[in-house]
Amino acid sequence: MFELIFLGTSASAPSVHRGLSAAMILHKEHRFLIDCGEGTQRQLLKSGLGFRRLDKVLLTHGHLDHILGLGGLVSTFSRWEAIDRLSIWGGRWTLGRVEDLIYRVVLRGARALLEIEFHEIEPGVLMESDTFTLRAFPVSHRGADCFGFTFEEKERRPFLAEKAKALGVPAGPERKWLVQGQAITLDDGRVVQPDDVLGEWQPGAKLAFVGDAGRTDNLVDETCAADMLVIEATYLHHEADMAREFGHLTARQAAKLARRADVKQLVLTHLSRRNRERDVLDEAKAIFPNTVVARDFDRFRVVKEKKSYTGGSCASNS
Ligand SMILES: [Zn+2]
Ligand SMILES: [Zn+2]
Repeated sequence: MFELIFLGTSASAPSVHRGLSAAMILHKEHRFLIDCGEGTQRQLLKSGLGFRRLDKVLLTHGHLDHILGLGGLVSTFSRWEAIDRLSIWGGRWTLGRVEDLIYRVVLRGARALLEIEFHEIEPGVLMESDTFTLRAFPVSHRGADCFGFTFEEKERRPFLAEKAKALGVPAGPERKWLVQGQAITLDDGRVVQPDDVLGEWQPGAKLAFVGDAGRTDNLVDETCAADMLVIEATYLHHEADMAREFGHLTARQAAKLARRADVKQLVLTHLSRRNRERDVLDEAKAIFPNTVVARDFDRFRVVKEKKSYTGGSCASNS
């Protein structure tokens, strides 16, 4: 299960109701801040998330509406001992701009209490734990170095406690060994195999997060069969020329991607101040009904619904 909280959902400039791009993804003990537009610190506080355990930042790209908040965040963390290390992932150009912001503008030679690590993104696996994999993939927007991210839970076999009890497996470390794939021998000499007490393999939830994007044909494979796809919808169809010129998407293009990639739910963000939320939603829903337009502080839980899993059928839909 992944939890997603939107902190800013406006494109290029904030509005009264929408802050600049930022979102938080939670999984177990991990917290990932995706983008950090101006004003994100206050949004973090208002959302109730606060700064605790905020040690990982993923940047979709280096445009100012996605990174300027890092200056303020680092300024706060540099004087506050609760966070001693901040890891920032981004493309090369993005990291160069962020380093200028942090070292030339914010710190200017001052010693910070926190250590900042920069990780240049290469497409592929960025991080992996026992329970999930985080991948980055290239996105076409204006300029180089734009990335999207997928968070995917690993497949697992559920432990069938009733079956284990019936077989006489004691409630102790033996259960953990069975889950890890080891056979155990009971006191009476009977051997219990993992297959005896583990259910069918179950796929995990998949969350695909794309920031600003100018086209979608190269995003189908990575977003395929996601339980949730988050992507920008800066423009409406009647502004398609402008969308193309500035490397952004219309709500209709985003919805077509959701349909082609066979995702379960589409969440649109990065709205232009010119467009009404209702119009963005209607345009997308006409193509992909299970669409939501995110508002600041909206929270979503991304879970795999067992019966809805199709194994991904993007190729046949394309
Ligand atoms: Zn943007
Ligand atoms: Zn941008």
